[in-house]
Parts: sequence; structure tokens; C-alpha cells
Amino acid sequence: MTEPHLNLIAGRWQEAQALAENRNPSDPSDLIGLYARGGAEDVALAVAAARAAQPAWAKASPQLRADVLRRTGDILLARVEEMGRLLAREEGKTLAEAKGEALRAAQLFHFYAGEPVRAPGEKHASIRDGVEVEVTREPLGVVGLITPWNFPIAIPAWKTAPALAAGNAVVLKPADLTPGCAHLLAEVLTEAGCPPGVFNLVMGRGSEIGAALVAHPDVAAISFTGSERVGRGIARGCAEGMKKVQLEMGGKNPMVVTARADIDLAVGACLNGAFFSTGQRCTASSRLIVEEPVLAEFTDKLVAAMKALRIGDPLDPATQIGPVVSEAQLSGNLDYVRLAGAEGCEVVGGQRLDRPGSFQAPALFLGAQNTMRVAREEIFGPCAAVIAAADFDAAVAIANDTEFGLSSGICTGSLKEATEFKRRSKVGMVMVNLPTAGVDYHVPFGGRGASSLGGREQGRMAMEFYTSVKTAYTFAG
Ligand code: NAD
Repeated sequence: MTEPHLNLIAGRWQEAQALAENRNPSDPSDLIGLYARGGAEDVALAVAAARAAQPAWAKASPQLRADVLRRTGDILLARVEEMGRLLAREEGKTLAEAKGEALRAAQLFHFYAGEPVRAPGEKHASIRDGVEVEVTREPLGVVGLITPWNFPIAIPAWKTAPALAAGNAVVLKPADLTPGCAHLLAEVLTEAGCPPGVFNLVMGRGSEIGAALVAHPDVAAISFTGSERVGRGIARGCAEGMKKVQLEMGGKNPMVVTARADIDLAVGACLNGAFFSTGQRCTASSRLIVEEPVLAEFTDKLVAAMKALRIGDPLDPATQIGPVVSEAQLSGNLDYVRLAGAEGCEVVGGQRLDRPGSFQAPALFLGAQNTMRVAREEIFGPCAAVIAAADFDAAVAIANDTEFGLSSGICTGSLKEATEFKRRSKVGMVMVNLPTAGVDYHVPFGGRGASSLGGREQGRMAMEFYTSVKTAYTFAG
């Protein structure tokens, strides 16, 4: 048994009151490690450490912050293989996907390493004689970051890097199911010279650690990614404490396939969008809305492609779909498979696989209506509803008929339809002839409606959330 993995508070690995097992969902006999399960008292210590360290971090030369972020990116890059294997073992993504995510974390740190020295300001003429006006951005202070299990290294990276670049100190609370990647990030930041207290890691239950962070009066802002249910509670808590809040939550993302689509291309995009990463992506295509003239051809080809997917151990290079992240998540997915049948869909696939580990065959719910629960609620597994649309306008209306608004997609050979869909789609991210999942790191990420609240992540726009604007007036005489 390896040494337990501890919380990082004030630059020290803090003795834990309790430890939790981190197990591989592909192989329950594989114990990845023991990880600290902190409590509210650890949050108090971490916030105090962050509060003490933040002023010097914000006041230091921007070059110092740039160097720490760049070195973090360099070390992550050198450890992509190791990080990818850890991620595949604890979350269940295939090794190729996991290494891609690890690489993305390094790229994010490199991207934000430029921000401290690039921090913009504005100088304006005043409407009053002899007065000058300056507009600058300042860090918020201590920020709490609460992250989900499905991108256990990329999401902590895309929150931590801009938060630190702006001069904030951070307390990161990763998902209970995937503490390993966050712990590795804490190790790397320490090795990269991040000063003690500037980055703190507190692992443990969301209801304890997350709630304590949200309630703490010295935390200026919370950036959360996770489920809508938890997000709503965090928004209420932040309103109570007058904290800035950013929420990235679920989706029920539509992919429209029109009669003008290249059907093979559409099948490939839907296969990827619905099932890759075991469907455990907030941007997964979970509603496939298909125009009636191409419905039969599209469905036949997608069912054949889905059945040919290789499901198995994520560390096996031949595997295309890994396990569901946990037994609890699998049980919820299987409930939705049963519900789809009860609601009148023809269910193809979706059964638990007869092998150790939390494996499920991908599922299509054919003949679904957009009013059904399986077409309205986020399942967060390898399940997609296929919904027929009479024509293009009907397809757009169905696509927009959801409380979510994260990403959407259209497969079409018509420039007119593509342009029209980009204009009319009520989402934050829209894809043409591409899966609804899969984004770049240098441009804004986020949605609208029940999917997102409080400003975009990623790209330069992320800096807005982690800073506060100050307008200064000077009378120079
Ligand atoms: P979750 O909401 O259960 O947990 C997210 C985080 O919140 C975890 O760290 C958890 O411990 C913590 N938490 C739980 N209860 C809390 C509480 N009462 N107070 C404070 N924190 C608490 O979500 P999950 O199951 O880890 O992740 C899956 C969800 O994340 C899906 O809904 C998915 O769509 C969403 N997601 C969204 C995006 C996006 O950018 N929009 C990206 C990835 C995942």
C-alpha cells in the first residue's frame, strides 16, 4: 500500500482525520490509493492560509506568476503519460482520451501563463476638465473552486490557471470520486514554485467541504462545475454571502441531422458526441433530432456503428468506450434505460455488461418524443434519444425546447441551414458538422439557461470572472 495522499494547506501536506479509498471503476480490486477526507476545519485552515498568502502573490511581479504557471504547464507536459494512466484508472476514460485531457491541462497553464503580463487596463478622457479616468482589474482575493469527476484534470486546470494568473489565492475542492488528478496537480504546482498558501487542496465530501467553502465569509467567489441540482444550492449560498459565483452545469444537447446531411459524417459525429467518454460529458449529444426523410438510413447506420464499439479496459489501446464512473452512476443510467422502455421508446443496447467493473453497453432510445423524461433530463451516461422531426424548422424548434443551453450541433450540407441554425440555436456553443462535444481552450466555454450562470470559462474571457473592475478618477490640477 502506498502512502496516503493528503490535503495541501499552507504549503504542507496536512495530516488527515479520515481517509477514503479511490478505486478503479473498470476493476474494483484495483485500489488506486487512499486520499484524505477533510472536514470543515480543513476548509477554515485552507482559507486562512490563502487569505494570508494572497496579498503578496497579487503584489509580486507579474513575471513571478507567469513563471509559476509556465513551469506548471512544463511539468504537466512532461507527466502526460503518467497523468493519463492515473486518469484512465480513476475515471474510466480511454487512455487516448485521458492523455488528451492531461495534455489539455498543460496547454491551459501555458495559455494563462501569458495573462499576468498581458493584463489590460484602459485610460479614458473625463467629461470634467483636468480629470483623468483609468479602468483596471484587480484580483478578488480567495476563490473557491469546486469541480466534478468527469474532467478531473482539465476542469481544475481551467479554473486554477486563470484564478492564479489574476493574483487570487485558491482553495480547490475536487470531486470525491476523482481526487487523484487534483492531488497530482497540487504536487505539480508545489514543484513549480507556487508559494505556500497560494494554492490549497481540500479533498472530501461535497456536502461538507463544498458547503463550508460556499459559507466561508473570507471566500470572495466560487467557481463551480457540476450538476444543476448542486449548482442551484451553491447559487443560493453565494447570494446569501454576497459572493461572486460562476456555475457550469448540465446539458441535454441536441444534434440535428437534416435531409441535406452527409449521413456517414452525421453518424460519426453522433457516435462520438453521444458515446465517447462513456457519454459522461456535459456537452454530450443526448438528443439526436433527425429529419424524417433520412431517419431510417441514419438510424440503421448509427445502430450498426454503436454495436461495433469496443467496450473494455480503458488501458487497452483497442478500447473505444470505458466503464461508467461508479456503481451509483451505472444504477442511475440503468433506471433511465428502463424508463425509456416504459415511456414507449424502442431501446437498443443499454444493458449492464456481464464482466467485473461498472460497464454498460451504449444505448439508443428510438422513437423518442421531446416531451419524454429521457429527452428532458440529463442522464450523463452512454444513452441518446433519437427524435424524428418533420422538417428543418421543426428540428430547430425541438432542439431549442429544453431548459438547458450548453452546446448544440447540426449536420447538414446546406450553408443556409448551417447559418440559420447558428443564429437560432439557444446555446453557448454551436457546432456545424462536428460533435457537440470537443472544444478549444483559447475561446469562451459555457452556455445559457439551466446550463450556466455567471460568465464564461476558458480563453481570455475567463479573466473577467476572476477579477473585479476598478475605475479611478484623478484630478492632476
Ligand atoms: P455534482 O454536482 O454531484 O458534484 C460537483 C462537485 O460539487 C463535486 O466536487 C461535489 O463534491 C461538490 N458538491 C456536492 N454537493 C455539494 C454541496 N452541497 N455544496 C457544495 N459542493 C457540493 O456533479 P458530478 O456528478 O461530479 O459531475 C457531473 C455533472 O457535472 C453533470 O451534471 C455534468 O453535466 C456537469 N458538468 C458540467 C460541465 C460544464 O462545464 N457545463 C462540465 C463537466 C461536467
